[in-house]
Amino acid sequence: MKTTRQIKKTEHSEKEKNLRQEVRPEHWNDWRWQTANSFRSPSDLLFMGWFTRDDIVEMESVARIYPMRVTPYYASLASGPGHPVAKQFLPAKQEIDFSLSGSVDDPLMERNYMPVPGLIHRYPDRALCMVSQTCAVRCRHCNRKRTWRGSCPETGPDFRKMLDYIRGTKGIREVILSGGDPLMNTLETLARQLEALRNIRHVEVIRIGTRLPVTLPMRITERLCRMLSSYRPLWVNTHFNHPCEITPEASRACELLCMAGIPVSNQAVLLKGINDSVETIRELCQGLQRISVRPYYLFHCDAVRGTDHFRTHLSKGVHIIQALWGTMGGLCMPNFVVDLPEGGGKAMVVPSQLIDIDAGEAFFRTFDGKIIRYKSPEGS
Ligand SMILES: *Cc1c(COP(=O)(O)O)cnc(C)c1O
Ligand code: SF4
Repeated sequence: MKTTRQIKKTEHSEKEKNLRQEVRPEHWNDWRWQTANSFRSPSDLLFMGWFTRDDIVEMESVARIYPMRVTPYYASLASGPGHPVAKQFLPAKQEIDFSLSGSVDDPLMERNYMPVPGLIHRYPDRALCMVSQTCAVRCRHCNRKRTWRGSCPETGPDFRKMLDYIRGTKGIREVILSGGDPLMNTLETLARQLEALRNIRHVEVIRIGTRLPVTLPMRITERLCRMLSSYRPLWVNTHFNHPCEITPEASRACELLCMAGIPVSNQAVLLKGINDSVETIRELCQGLQRISVRPYYLFHCDAVRGTDHFRTHLSKGVHIIQALWGTMGGLCMPNFVVDLPEGGGKAMVVPSQLIDIDAGEAFFRTFDGKIIRYKSPEGS
């Protein structure tokens, strides 16, 4: 991004204030207003004063391939084009530079694990249903970026076919609603989907994957939580990537879910230039614990076409997890996970503290670097 017209910090805060202040609070706090007034084209962002016309033209050429969409709320969290929130919603020219990358649209080969369109059955006991094609924000690092394009065979899936498959597959005990964002569906549609799943005896647990607590927290209303609460055990997994996303609005959204008996966990993605440092991940995870959200996964960024500029080396994540282990409470600790190519599924990357083990003894390295011998019980 050219920053020839980079605005001074004070002016940024002024713009930011305007974005909020020009809107009546009852509108700002209404998810319908936020959705209706979302920025869907780079030229909608001219008013922010961050960009030249050339910047806008460049972003538009990217957005023609990977569309842009952001709520005024989420956009208001960014203080300039280099801000960790801005990088998650601004189209960047690296997204369409396919010359160097070995990345592909679907590195996890999700399509090969789709017995019916929109349903991914990769693990024996869990099925993932893509029940929505839209999101409040088009995250530039999205690993289902391929589905943003209309020609994708997975779009427009038929939920009844998914239900038939789940009904006929007794081994499925957990169903994950994903997308897109399932909470972008109307309350009625969502209730119908949850009701249908609840009527299948072997489906013990329902999980919803949603980023709305982060990108459109107003959507988490008391009414929505009441409805969701009646389909428990229901788990929500959300997607905070940076501590600055933990705002009063986002905290309130998570608290409402929590008070409705719905545990909220977080799946973050390790993103170069956004959160790839020990301190940022520590602040993120401790901040999440403060609002009762359990850090569940920290994902290594997959080799998805259009997201290469966000990918770190695998060792970056290993280093971060190693540095956090033992110096941050276990309830703050996410599992560092890499989704393997060829449909291999998730693999946990755990820096092992066990150095050696034989019949009589084992050796461990402590979190602060000491080596300790552990004697096995006699005759065991
Ligand atoms: C990640 C994922 C799941 C859920 O895995 P958990 O380890 O239980 O969080 C299920 N299905 C698919 C296809 C997935 O990618
Ligand atoms: S909310 Fe999730 S599915 Fe939607 S664009 Fe962001 S990462 Fe992708």
